[in-house]
Amino acid sequence: MKFVAEALNLSPIAAKRLEEKNILRQAFIKHPFFADVIEALKLDRKFGEFEEGTLIAKTVDGLEVVRGYPKIKRALTLHPTIKKHFRGEVVLEEKMNGYNVRVVMFGENVYAITRGGFICPYTTEKARMLINSDFFKDHPNLMLCCEAVGEESPFVPKEIYGVKTIDFYVFDIRDRKTNVALPIKEKEKLAEEYGFNLAPILAEVHVSKAHEVAKDVIEELGRKGREGIVIKDPKMKRQPIKYTTSESNCSDLSFAFRFFGEYGKDFMFSRIIREGFQAFEFDERDEEFKRRCLRLGEAILKAMVESIREVKEGRKVYDKMRLRFYDLEVFELFKEHIRRMGVSAEFSEPFEDNGSYVVWFYRYMKSTTDKIDYILRGNLWQ
Ligand code: ATP
Ligand code: MG
Repeated sequence: MKFVAEALNLSPIAAKRLEEKNILRQAFIKHPFFADVIEALKLDRKFGEFEEGTLIAKTVDGLEVVRGYPKIKRALTLHPTIKKHFRGEVVLEEKMNGYNVRVVMFGENVYAITRGGFICPYTTEKARMLINSDFFKDHPNLMLCCEAVGEESPFVPKEIYGVKTIDFYVFDIRDRKTNVALPIKEKEKLAEEYGFNLAPILAEVHVSKAHEVAKDVIEELGRKGREGIVIKDPKMKRQPIKYTTSESNCSDLSFAFRFFGEYGKDFMFSRIIREGFQAFEFDERDEEFKRRCLRLGEAILKAMVESIREVKEGRKVYDKMRLRFYDLEVFELFKEHIRRMGVSAEFSEPFEDNGSYVVWFYRYMKSTTDKIDYILRGNLWQ
């Protein structure tokens, strides 16, 4: 705790307030795999200027602060929202659908921190293999904000990117202590220099035309099953804004209704509202509108009926992910990591595949299973 106050430069009063709030949690598991970290805590909620997910670590190099990735607000309409929030040119970047990872270097090694501020063993193992660490030797104060995407993702597995395993796509490069983001041109230059993948930069347009270009981009991304866009100020001085495709809203809905006992009603409701504003703004009629209605209806019903059928046939409802480890010790660490995150999960035995180990990760959806079973036994909803 004392090192946190020192790292964050808190006055004695602020330090006391932080302690009273009780929002500091352990951020890692002590293990030789994380040899450069002596102690690490993370903020479970925002504190002053420090975002939720901020990591405070005592490392072999001294005290380190890695700021949480800021929340991105959402547009429900492209017009007049883009015009209202930006000036001059805007950049439309693809919003990739994976999980948020901040990559940094402590001591001799690269560390991958997930959104909430945990140092994740699974992600760290892959980051050490895939990210050129020369970048951090040249720029020790910077962090790479990446989306981790691919089929072998423990949190958001997707096939749409053609990544069979998992890979990192940089979307921001920031000062890890101040959270100031580099302008987009500088990000592109560094990505080129160190060989990083970038979240695709799709267009740079004047705000007066941005909503029209964005609409075309969104329709095209939707056809490919992609998630959406983040609209950014080229200098990164203004707050970015996100906007998603209908296909992505529907894929979220399908997931949420498949596991309706586990997902909050707000999650479902917000995605239906998004569809309403998009259908209105895109001025759809007849065929196109009918297609959207069908997509939305199927998203809600199809997967939910499958879950009901599963329970009817005596099976449990669960989500299943394929993972890959290069070191079985990291698998052990990951199991402990998941347990500490409060996720109830089961794992298959690892089987060797090309010098690495494949494991199935099952998340049992107890609430959905129990609710369906209760109803199918003739009980009433309320
Ligand atoms: P929040 O809205 O708080 O950021 P969330 O989990 O609700 O969190 P999302 O709806 O997934 O977030 O949208 C924001 C996230 O999108 C970012 O945290 C980041 O992980 C991801 N992302 C993917 N591509 C980009 C990109 N090009 N620029 C910025 N963020 C991106
Ligand atoms: Mg996301």
